[in-house]
Amino acid sequence: MKKTAIALFTGDLRLHDHPPLRAAIAAGDRVVPLFVDDDRVRAAGFDAPNRRAFLADCLADLDAGLRARGGRLVLRRGDLVEQVCRVAAEAEAAEVHLAAGPTAFAHAREDRLRRALEADGRRLVVHDAVVTAVPPGAVTPAGSDHFAVFTPYHRRWADHPLREVLAAPRSVRVPEGVESADLPRRADVGGTSEGLAKGGEEEGRKRFTAWLRGGIADYEALHDDMAGDATSRLSPHLHFGTLSPTELIHRATRTGGPGEEAFVRQLCWREFHQQVLAARPGAASADYRTKNDRWRSERSAKDDVEAWREGRTGYPVVDAGMRQLRHEGWMHNRARLLTASFLAKTLYVDWRVGARHFLDLLVDGDVANNQLNWQWMAGTGTDSRPNRVLNPVTQAKRYDPEGAYVRRWVPELADVEAKFVHEPWKLKDRDRSGIDYPDPLIDLPDGLARFKAARGAA
Ligand code: FAD
Repeated sequence: MKKTAIALFTGDLRLHDHPPLRAAIAAGDRVVPLFVDDDRVRAAGFDAPNRRAFLADCLADLDAGLRARGGRLVLRRGDLVEQVCRVAAEAEAAEVHLAAGPTAFAHAREDRLRRALEADGRRLVVHDAVVTAVPPGAVTPAGSDHFAVFTPYHRRWADHPLREVLAAPRSVRVPEGVESADLPRRADVGGTSEGLAKGGEEEGRKRFTAWLRGGIADYEALHDDMAGDATSRLSPHLHFGTLSPTELIHRATRTGGPGEEAFVRQLCWREFHQQVLAARPGAASADYRTKNDRWRSERSAKDDVEAWREGRTGYPVVDAGMRQLRHEGWMHNRARLLTASFLAKTLYVDWRVGARHFLDLLVDGDVANNQLNWQWMAGTGTDSRPNRVLNPVTQAKRYDPEGAYVRRWVPELADVEAKFVHEPWKLKDRDRSGIDYPDPLIDLPDGLARFKAARGAA
């Protein structure tokens, strides 16, 4: 009798360097490459149009890659556990192979799936080092289950041996008769950002190869140059797993210049947050290290929050970042830091309000990276200087000295000379007439005083 195994795809939508798929192929004569469009992802609020559109590209590309190898993708909709059990029964599969995930959601899903499969006499095999290069929990400090400080984590992470990169399978044999729902189409997803990037493994691999040829060498010098846009833009591919972090590290370290080193260090930040979240799942919504803040809520700071979301705060660099987010579903890291500091510290609004808005729009929106970066900037996370406040004017002058980033995203200021572009309120009245741009929402010293008083009192 022919043996069949299931390779269940989740946040790892690729054929290259994919241990669960390789193991499923090795386990049986036939394999069902399965993706479940899980109702619970939607119910848990993880769904957003930009990510859904990117996902549609990823699934189409995965299916095309499988077809080129003689297989196809099987898509089901509904509750993941029910659907996997159903497909396993239809295909008489003995094993299901799945990548481990770092979130509480992924852990609960894994547990439910294991129990349900075992009740049917089947086996769940969970693979580490698929979504991250170093599995959460693989390196820990003495006396704790995770690292709370980045630098020592980075040291240990860099020393941890990486597994070999696996080639994509040459052929994939899918059993006959296992039905698939129609794949979603990007064109059918409404409400997406106009400048949203294209998804899929092929696109991700092209982008990464181009990044290795150009870009990466200057990464250390240019990563904060907001107008230069000189970062890799691989974050959505890492989020959806169209690229493997293990492969990225192997290939980036082959050359080993300062740019490559700086890039790999950023990949480590991603894994640092994943291991914090895996050990402290509550940090997705609760303060990791509370400062007993009595934040202003979305309701009590309604107008401020609205102005921030719309990119109408009167601080050009903050507004530029927020408008880039809306237009592309992506934002430069420096702008993420500035916009987050502005909301949480200058406006003293609950970081969760900002994190939610980011998750609603970011194509790379990721629970670990988003919630823990927000906490880092709000000073409730792992930052060793939790009370730092980024000044949007001095930061803008430093990281956007000519104002090109601001002019790109805030066209009202396109003709303002560099001297005033980050402080348009300093323009003489006659030069301001005709510019439809708001006055600052708040004076920076007032915001700072409120924040210091709040933290002092706490
Ligand atoms: P590059 O600079 O080219 O870096 C390469 C990769 O390293 C990135 O793709 C990403 O996977 C990882 N990386 C880089 N910086 C960080 C970081 N600070 N923390 C964790 N991983 C990092 N990143 C997300 O992937 N998803 C999010 O939801 C997310 N939300 C954020 C929210 C805030 C408030 C802040 C300050 C940062 C957030 N980041 C998030 C981290 C970072 O801004 C993005 O990963 C980065 O801007 C993506 O662009 P890139 O791919 O060009 O990055």
